[in-house]
Amino acid sequence: MEKIPYKIYLEEQEMPTQWYNVRADMKKKPAPLLNPETKKPVTLEELSHIFCAALAKQELDDQTPYIDIPEEIRNFYRMYRPSPLVRAYCLEEKLQTPAHIYYKFEGNNTSGSHKLNSAIAQAYYAKKQGLKGVTTETGAGQWGTALSMACSYFGLDCQVYMVKVSYEQKPFRREVMRTYGAKVTPSPSMLTEVGRRINAEFPGTTGSLGCAISEAVEAATTQEGYRYVLGSVLSQVLLHQSVIGLETQTALKKYGIKADTIIGCAGGGSNLGGLISPFAGEMLRGEADYEIIAVEPASCPSLTRGKYAYDFCDTGKVCPLAKMYTLGSGFIPSANHAGGLRYHGMSSVVSELYDQGLMTARSVEQTEVFKAATTFARVEGILPAPESSHAIKVAIDEALKCKETGEAKNIVFGLTGTGYFDMYAYQKFNDGQMSDYVPTDEELAKSLASLPTV
Ligand SMILES: *Cc1c(COP(=O)(O)O)cnc(C)c1O
Repeated sequence: MEKIPYKIYLEEQEMPTQWYNVRADMKKKPAPLLNPETKKPVTLEELSHIFCAALAKQELDDQTPYIDIPEEIRNFYRMYRPSPLVRAYCLEEKLQTPAHIYYKFEGNNTSGSHKLNSAIAQAYYAKKQGLKGVTTETGAGQWGTALSMACSYFGLDCQVYMVKVSYEQKPFRREVMRTYGAKVTPSPSMLTEVGRRINAEFPGTTGSLGCAISEAVEAATTQEGYRYVLGSVLSQVLLHQSVIGLETQTALKKYGIKADTIIGCAGGGSNLGGLISPFAGEMLRGEADYEIIAVEPASCPSLTRGKYAYDFCDTGKVCPLAKMYTLGSGFIPSANHAGGLRYHGMSSVVSELYDQGLMTARSVEQTEVFKAATTFARVEGILPAPESSHAIKVAIDEALKCKETGEAKNIVFGLTGTGYFDMYAYQKFNDGQMSDYVPTDEELAKSLASLPTV
């Protein structure tokens, strides 16, 4: 008889009271953000024009290991956290593997993903600073949804620039945001200078994440009482997402389980960074060892085929430069259905940990991902987001390897969200009409040729 329950729930009082900042334990720190004009490290003062002051401070803080989670944020977390760590008994049975598989499920809130963990923190600091509202971009819509929930909770105005193709193809996401009171504008729009410029240069363009970021930043810096917020990539976002890893660590400890392999999907790196932070911290301090695997789409392979270099975070080149694994800010990924994984770069924290050899990375093609998603849904019940299913795919691969070697490894992966708004993608897969696209070396060389010189 197994004594590990299907769902390891933590008590409310076991929820973390502090976020963990893995940068504090890194001997070699992630490279600083640079001012795009002077190419010098950005100052707190410069960053505070774009971000809320408290968040700008968190962004630049690579020394403080633990940062208190304000009580107001913990009160919101209490509505959907601690999130369960689930033992995937049915998946193990289906695969006939000796491995033990666990997943940390972050889809248990209306926004349907982990993004709410940072959205509520960012909205809180904006409110505390006395701002009127915030601006942001959203691709597939998960971040915009999470932020509109967070802003309505604190009574803040929320302006979302949504990549035009998603605005048109995902009307339900758009309407969820509007229901929570957000203003949603298709990007590129005619509301901003950069939007008008991009529309003139590329008539009929359906937009990109990088372009929507430029618009949102401009909207924040040209309106009194507004700041810009971002749902991934930034170090502050990884900090907030560390609640995922901290809870996972507590839950594993409670049952005396030692993880062997930890797997997360990687778009901008926030869920992966949040999940692995406390474990990477143990590795950095020489206390334990783990095999960490980042999983990205073969159509947007920043870690596995990108370059580790300073690059622009947005198309309009208004944001600070970040040193990261990147495909070049001009890289437009093919229409992969995992919208949340289509960013050209990777968090500088995840990039540096990867560069230091603390983790490995794999890229997977989307039809394989949907096959894994379907296998998972049929036995575990949860209909996973396409992004999350990248982690499922590699967890299954690893579990099948254990079947060959007979090892009873403990595999932990991040199940970042649900896929109810991705049913067109599932429909394509079910109809056998999904295809895979892998960029050629020539295509990557072309977008990488435009990296800035610093
Ligand atoms: C946004 C998103 C991701 C990818 O973003 P990261 O910052 O890399 O975590 C993964 N899964 C889901 C469900 C998302 O919404």
